[in-house]
Amino acid sequence: MSMKPKGLVMYRGPSQIDGQPIVVVATLKSANRKTGDMVQTWILRENLHPVEASKRKDDVSICGNCPHRHATGGSCYVNIGQAPASIWKSYRAGKYPSFDAEKHSGFFAGRKVRLGAYGDPAAMPFNVAQQMVYLSDGHTGYTHQAGRKFFDNRFLTLCQASADTPKQAVKLQQNGAKTFRVALKNDRLMPGEIECLSDTKGMSCLECGLCDGVTKNVMIRVHGSRASRFKSARVAA
Ligand code: SF4
Repeated sequence: MSMKPKGLVMYRGPSQIDGQPIVVVATLKSANRKTGDMVQTWILRENLHPVEASKRKDDVSICGNCPHRHATGGSCYVNIGQAPASIWKSYRAGKYPSFDAEKHSGFFAGRKVRLGAYGDPAAMPFNVAQQMVYLSDGHTGYTHQAGRKFFDNRFLTLCQASADTPKQAVKLQQNGAKTFRVALKNDRLMPGEIECLSDTKGMSCLECGLCDGVTKNVMIRVHGSRASRFKSARVAA
């Protein structure tokens, strides 16, 4: 039996968004309270520190044109200098072995996977995401790339389509997506939507699992300091 690594390299190659080199790392243990202990996947520029990539707007390779990117004035909740930076450094230091189905498939068995703890799953080839979902016991995922030219529509069978306005949500739903809509504090639920069960019932994503791309349209409210930044991101989107 091989020792359990902290993470695995699931993909190294061109971004499906712009062809630049990216890496997808799955980390096997998580202390994230909102998601619970899910396998977390990190989609990173292979050759650039994540903070540097964000500053230079080279995060387009992993985030596409998501309006929440920091360098474009967005309100992305990911603290890029923390987990993404330390995972990228560990990757560069060779701490994560490349995924080998024979040796590593068991690490996904009975687990749930979060596609895109940082970065957009649609930046990786579909079969890479599909394999993780296939090996595991459930998943969540979110993409901001639905409708883009390069977008592989099969991602809508695995991921919620992120929407920043009710209008966007309706359009995405008409195109067959289940949506994940970020709304302001006093916004109302739209017909057919359910509010995130983390906010209403205190559940973790691990327990809830609604954001699997096929089950429900979900709405989540932004709180606190992010709310005012979100408003401007929404206008700019
Ligand atoms: S609806 Fe469920 S799976 Fe989706 S973000 Fe909320 S708690 Fe997580």
